[in-house]
Amino acid sequence: MNKELIKKEKTYSIKVTGIVQGVGFRPFIFNLASRFKLKGMVTNTTEAVDIVINTTSKKTLAAFMDKINKDRPSAAYIERIVFEQVPYRSFNNFSITKSKKSQNRFQLVSPDLATCQDCISDINNSSFGRRYGYPFTNCTNCGPRFTIMESFPYDRYQTTMKKFEMCKDCQLEYQNPFDRRFHAQPNACHKCGPKLWLVDNKNNLISSTGPLEAAARKLKQGHIIALKSLGGFQLAVDATNPEAVIKLRNKKNRPHKPLAVMVRNIETVKKNFTVSQAEIKMLTSPSAPIVLLNKKNKNFLAEGISFYNRMDGIMLPYTPIHHLLFNLIDFPLVMTSGNNSEEPIAKDNQEALEKLSPIAGYFLLHDRDIYSRYDDSVVKEINKNQMIIRRARGFSPYPIKIGLDIGDKCILAVGAQEKNTFCVLTRNYAIISQHLGELDDADSFAFFKETLEVYKRLFNVTEFDLVAHDLHPGYTSSKFAQHLGIPTMGIQHHQAHMASVIAENNLQGDVLGITWDGTGLGLDEKIWGSEILLLKEKQITRLGNLSEKLIPGGEAAIRNPYRMAISYLLEIYRKQNRKQQFSEYIYDNCPHFIKLIGKNEIEILKHQLEIKFNSPATTSMGRFFDAVSSILNLTSTISYEGQAAIHLESIADLRCTQEYRSHIDHFCMDDMAILEQILEDIKNKVPASIISAKFHNTLASAILDICKIAQDKYNIFQVALSGGVFQNTLLLKNTLSKLSKQGFEVFSNYKAPVNDGGISLGQAYMAALELERSNRCV
Ligand SMILES: [Zn+2]
Ligand SMILES: [Zn+2]
Repeated sequence: MNKELIKKEKTYSIKVTGIVQGVGFRPFIFNLASRFKLKGMVTNTTEAVDIVINTTSKKTLAAFMDKINKDRPSAAYIERIVFEQVPYRSFNNFSITKSKKSQNRFQLVSPDLATCQDCISDINNSSFGRRYGYPFTNCTNCGPRFTIMESFPYDRYQTTMKKFEMCKDCQLEYQNPFDRRFHAQPNACHKCGPKLWLVDNKNNLISSTGPLEAAARKLKQGHIIALKSLGGFQLAVDATNPEAVIKLRNKKNRPHKPLAVMVRNIETVKKNFTVSQAEIKMLTSPSAPIVLLNKKNKNFLAEGISFYNRMDGIMLPYTPIHHLLFNLIDFPLVMTSGNNSEEPIAKDNQEALEKLSPIAGYFLLHDRDIYSRYDDSVVKEINKNQMIIRRARGFSPYPIKIGLDIGDKCILAVGAQEKNTFCVLTRNYAIISQHLGELDDADSFAFFKETLEVYKRLFNVTEFDLVAHDLHPGYTSSKFAQHLGIPTMGIQHHQAHMASVIAENNLQGDVLGITWDGTGLGLDEKIWGSEILLLKEKQITRLGNLSEKLIPGGEAAIRNPYRMAISYLLEIYRKQNRKQQFSEYIYDNCPHFIKLIGKNEIEILKHQLEIKFNSPATTSMGRFFDAVSSILNLTSTISYEGQAAIHLESIADLRCTQEYRSHIDHFCMDDMAILEQILEDIKNKVPASIISAKFHNTLASAILDICKIAQDKYNIFQVALSGGVFQNTLLLKNTLSKLSKQGFEVFSNYKAPVNDGGISLGQAYMAALELERSNRCV
């Protein structure tokens, strides 16, 4: 090199942070540097990828950095690229140097990724013998990550792949920076990697040579197969076979809840569902979640897949096992979590055989162990945004960045009782765990504790400075928090919902929160669930809510929405000062109750309500939906949470723009007045589809009225919508549209679930605010 050039040449250090490990980032940089003819080096450190290059022109440097951002590997997520000129160093070439490990640094971990197009070609292409038909094919752009990682850094010896020694060919790929499998930790092939086999439910081997062919045959015959997937077992059955679907429902004790379906490819989806560009993007993304899609071809799936639901939960194959199986069958598959109702998803062969043998006839097993179990994620589109309903595979443990930085301090938020997740917050990263389930199940609680240990290890957390929990002392998570021996902070359920929206949208200043929900313990020890909250000067106050109703039988009423209907109807009956017997009044207004419950039970419920026996008071919006659903003769007893409200939403006539008169008094909506108008409509034989639409439209308008009053009084422009009730697409879209038209800035949950799965984020955020406040005081 001539001296002139050396003089002009300068050395730059470029640091790239984000999810840049285990995603093919270093080979990508290596190839990019070759294309630019740059000399230098690239290294993985615990917190970033460090690149050093020599160049004579700033233009080249800028172009190089631009390419890093634009052409990055599909699985990489770049948070920041910073560069600086450093003292001159001389290089002979461009090289990849060994990873550097630094202590106590926080590292982002990549979620598991769906099989990429290149790997799909490999397994389908018989001329590429090494990976043809191999069910564990992966590369740096795809495959398992989080579920096989035991510790950080992400190297093969710290994954469950350590027991498989790479053959010579795999080793060569692994070492070759030009290969797509360069440093692909789970790299494997027929010769050296994990194997698949099929057994019956007594663990008798059916086939080890053609397990997929044998499994496909069993599926065609209508059998239920338990299949070991990425993060745990799935139960698969022919989704076009009504008897097989009902058999699965009966055995899994899941009579009504919709079942997720996996279809062969995106063309099949387009043919049978109404899909938008945004939905196609979600389905085909590396996170490959279950996407809720509007039905088009009503005959595509067996009737028992989802009852009275506008939508079906659809996903595409995301592992080579799925892809290879779909090469052998020509029907869609029900793919539901391999568990008994609320238990966590089974992850080990033995565990699956024990727990799932009463359900599945056959088991498609393999010997790649799952370290962290992981359910399928569920998302849906709201105004071109992806809204996450259940956050697990493909998303966790991807962090959500919040607008507060707590430095090296570390907060644990343990979430709610149902749809539990926990959240670890350090610096400005909120890491929400995958969906852990209902904590009243002992196995789910064990899963909670086991997962917390995994996160502590992966994110290098030795202890927490503060633990946030729900105010409800009976929640398993609250009890757990109390026993940790570190400072605790109890946070009201609906304030946490609101805070989760503030956190993920990084809202500053005053906010009005509408948190409509099922159940949460209030500050007055009553059951809340229709909160109008105001965040002003960092304090949250409750402005309004529904008037109190009694829940006859407490929990029993939640399972039986007709009880809530009786409670509402009794109030109207009293208000109207009727002379007829209460049961006569019920039959008069809702004739279907004659079949549903006899006079006897009606009078017993009335008496129970009158003496307030085992009838706690609630202001829950979820219970209002329950009552309306039952009064309209839709759902009066439920087998899964939210069923009555989902039924009510699904029948609404979307063309109807009418509403009921609604009245707001001191931020409180008069729900009784709305119900009286509904009864009037029932009398006048207005179809339930119209009544449902009017009901939803009315609620959206009531929110608008409330917001306008708050704006006048408190000068509020930002509105946060959260809580389980906002899983209702019709209500949410309607509210978003009404509020934005009036100039409000409306926010909801998109990254964290809007239901109780998002509670832990809100708790962590409130605790961070508290930490900030107490630090300021010191
Ligand atoms: Zn791949
Ligand atoms: Zn091999």
